[in-house]
Amino acid sequence: RERAREILESAARRDTNRLGVEAMELLDAYGIPTPAGGVVSSPTEAEELAEDIGDDVVMKIVSPDILHKSDIGGVEVGVPPEEVRDTYEDLVVRARNYQRDAAILGVQVQEMVDLDSGTETILGMNRDPQFGPLLLFGLGGIFVEVLEDNTVRVAPVSESDARGMLDDIESAPLLRGARGRDPVDEDALVEAVQRLSQLVTDFPAIVELDINPLVATPDGVQAVDLRLTID
Ligand code: ADP
Ligand code: MG
Repeated sequence: RERAREILESAARRDTNRLGVEAMELLDAYGIPTPAGGVVSSPTEAEELAEDIGDDVVMKIVSPDILHKSDIGGVEVGVPPEEVRDTYEDLVVRARNYQRDAAILGVQVQEMVDLDSGTETILGMNRDPQFGPLLLFGLGGIFVEVLEDNTVRVAPVSESDARGMLDDIESAPLLRGARGRDPVDEDALVEAVQRLSQLVTDFPAIVELDINPLVATPDGVQAVDLRLTID
């Protein structure tokens, strides 16, 4: 909680109200798992971090001017060690092509999560002036806009509220092992919902937050992408 406060205060000092990967630590501080990784600012640093991670990695452009990274080719999944350098340069070039004066803070190098055994969900919050913090849970990734399969509760939520959110969505069978897939770790999902509920209850300054995707696998959950707005 102290750590979370520090992160939000330092963001306020930097005079930005939109945060992305810089705020991943908020999730860590509240016990919502995130993949290993970090933000680097040179191809050499990227190579070193990828080496620490010790496997193929995901690389993403980090820029306050680019909200939907994959739309501009700003996300490369499954990058092998020998391609990390070139990929760093590629991502920066693509960002510049998209917007010549885009502020580029660096490149995020992230551990891969297993999407084959996982389901991309979305877990978010929107602060409503009348009702307070509204938690949203649903099917995530590229399906968000297409299927709009989600459900909303006012935070703070109890464990049974959180569990009810899972039951509510039409894709629930997908999480529970449709088509011979292993069911995802439902308890981990429920816990993530409750922990986010706690985070947004503790910090009214967070007006909007989206974890998309929150990847749910049989072994737990991983928050892969985060975006939030503070006032
Ligand atoms: P954005 O939403 O800005 O385009 P994301 O970080 O959500 O960027 O990445 C886009 C997509 O790339 C995700 O929905 C997911 O399918 C894939 N992806 C991102 N990070 C990882 C990761 N660490 N492991 C596996 N797939 C990933
Ligand atoms: Mg995303």
